[in-house]
Amino acid sequence: MFNYILNLLYPNVCGICGKICTDSICKKCELKLHKYKVKNAVNDAVTIFKNRDNNFNHFISIFKYEDIIRKKMIEYKFGDRAYLYKTFAKIILKNEKVCGFLRNYDIIIPVPLHKKRKNARGYNQTELAAKEIANNIPNLKLETNILIKTKNTKVQSLLMKNQRRINIKGAFEIKTCRGRRRGRPKNKRQKNHII
Ligand SMILES: [Zn+2]
Repeated sequence: MFNYILNLLYPNVCGICGKICTDSICKKCELKLHKYKVKNAVNDAVTIFKNRDNNFNHFISIFKYEDIIRKKMIEYKFGDRAYLYKTFAKIILKNEKVCGFLRNYDIIIPVPLHKKRKNARGYNQTELAAKEIANNIPNLKLETNILIKTKNTKVQSLLMKNQRRINIKGAFEIKTCRGRRRGRPKNKRQKNHII
């Protein structure tokens, strides 16, 4: 019964073409997505953003954000298609380079949503995918109580580039064992945390 309900919520379909599929993405679609793959999935942020004030060491990007990839991301975030987490997590888990990189970490922190946004949407799309990834990478633990979104910001994609930084400023808090702390986390550069 539990599995039956779960399948209604998260159907066994290919997230891309919608056909019945137990693997969340069918072979045909896997091939179709190949042309959107970027050359280097794991990037050194210091090299790429050398002139920017960045606070992270690496970033992962598997696909170019265009066509079907963009469409599916929008459906996932705004179109009530929570079940697409399985497809996105599967794509990440099938990427050897990315998995090898993730195995170096012990904590995965999904980007949090403000509680009002999460209640309205019913799910946090990054949390669902991060949970699935954590379940499939040995020793990688999901942490959802460390980073909290305290400001209900405007939707970033509706803003101009320069407005996005302002919009997101001061929107997150780090919860330490002594309580919440505003601003930049001191441990952002620690090797074993991935957000
Ligand atoms: Zn398919």
